[in-house]
Amino acid sequence: MTTLGDDEWAGMDLSVRRGNDHDPSWFAGLNGLADEYDMIIVGAGISGCVFAERGSKELGLKSLIIDKRDHIGGNCYDFINKHGFRVSQYGVHLFHTKFDRVWEYVNEFSDWVPYEHRVKGKCKDVRDEYQIVPIPPSQETVNKLFDANVHSETEMEAWLDARRSVNPDPKNGEESALTRSGPELYEAIFKHYTHKQWDKWPEELDASVLARIPVRTNTDDRYFSDPHQALPKDGYTRIFENMIMSDPNITVRLNVDFFKERPNLPKCGLTVFTGPIDAYYASQGLPKLEYRSLRFFEEYHTPDASDKSDHPGFYQPCLQLNYPGPEVDFTRIVEYKHKPNQPAEAKASPGTVIFKEYSCDHGEPYYPVPNPANRELYERYQALATDEPGVCFVGRLASYKYFNMDQAFLNALEIWDEVKAGGKVAARTELGEPDGPK
Ligand code: UDP
Repeated sequence: MTTLGDDEWAGMDLSVRRGNDHDPSWFAGLNGLADEYDMIIVGAGISGCVFAERGSKELGLKSLIIDKRDHIGGNCYDFINKHGFRVSQYGVHLFHTKFDRVWEYVNEFSDWVPYEHRVKGKCKDVRDEYQIVPIPPSQETVNKLFDANVHSETEMEAWLDARRSVNPDPKNGEESALTRSGPELYEAIFKHYTHKQWDKWPEELDASVLARIPVRTNTDDRYFSDPHQALPKDGYTRIFENMIMSDPNITVRLNVDFFKERPNLPKCGLTVFTGPIDAYYASQGLPKLEYRSLRFFEEYHTPDASDKSDHPGFYQPCLQLNYPGPEVDFTRIVEYKHKPNQPAEAKASPGTVIFKEYSCDHGEPYYPVPNPANRELYERYQALATDEPGVCFVGRLASYKYFNMDQAFLNALEIWDEVKAGGKVAARTELGEPDGPK
């Protein structure tokens, strides 16, 4: 396994970020604010922007959005880097949804380019040689890795039946993966990737974690099966700009830390808190909730122009190439040049930029760690939140749930409906587990 020492760590180059718009007042700190707002919204991500946008359009409410970061869009934030590629600061995001309400909503703020995400894995076969195989695993995956001879759904069912364990009630990630895939696929695709991602073995995690990735009996190699799968034509950040920027009812202040500035903030009718719920209740003395974070290691490559491979001008054959084995310590490499919503200059570029993705304990909170101990702890925080007067907790970090983007939109829209109706603050749709990256 290769390990990156701290001195070698270059991370992501944020020195040049282009392609986004902003109002100069966003950087005025607490200067120039009104004495009172209908809502103060903590966090300029999906949930915060939905609340501000809906509040204004439906009820004419005036909102102040604050964010401690220097940009809007939360973890969806993307920008044009110094090489001309549109990249995502917080990891690759792929929009997909089965919720018509969400699809109609996001179409109000962007044109969309159809895009079906296909993920490959670089895995060792039975001869210890690397193969590029579809993930989620399907017929081609087992044929290439294990010399299987599977060419129909029936043969794939039989291949799996000969291996998978029967367990109607898998209690953890390992049991869940073994019932679906059997030991060979478990070892090659799930076990080590999960350990790298979570620093926990699958048996230490809820069954739901690995259930995000199906095992396919057919030849469908798409990562998602939702009816709506697309990329925003001008990037994700533009969606948020279009939601809030030209609305006189919405005021934005960036680089403002809610916890530091709380005593200095204007009055408001409702605080909408979209940050981590354990940070909000830090003074209560409860243990902290556990989160996994990510680090991205950026590399610029100029692939050989005379490259005779199937993908000249690219570093790898697809946008996302997973490395499920233990021999490297990153989980995946993302090459944004493959995204069809790249600007023309990026498409024409002889070079390409890649991001190796490492999972780690410290940093921005990306993933709630789903296991019984964290769930129980979250419920204690949730009980505090339910009794908190004048505050509405919304979103992935406030709910300690790893929402996909569309789930975050739907959750915020539905909680907004409830707030508007003056009733109980709760979402209606049971979202279930998210089913893929972001
Ligand atoms: N996973 C895996 N091997 C893979 C891809 C995913 O074992 O090649 C497991 C792993 O436990 C991971 C989970 O499935 O944490 C969810 O993967 P997903 O791609 O949805 O993760 P995200 O993109 O949200 O980080």
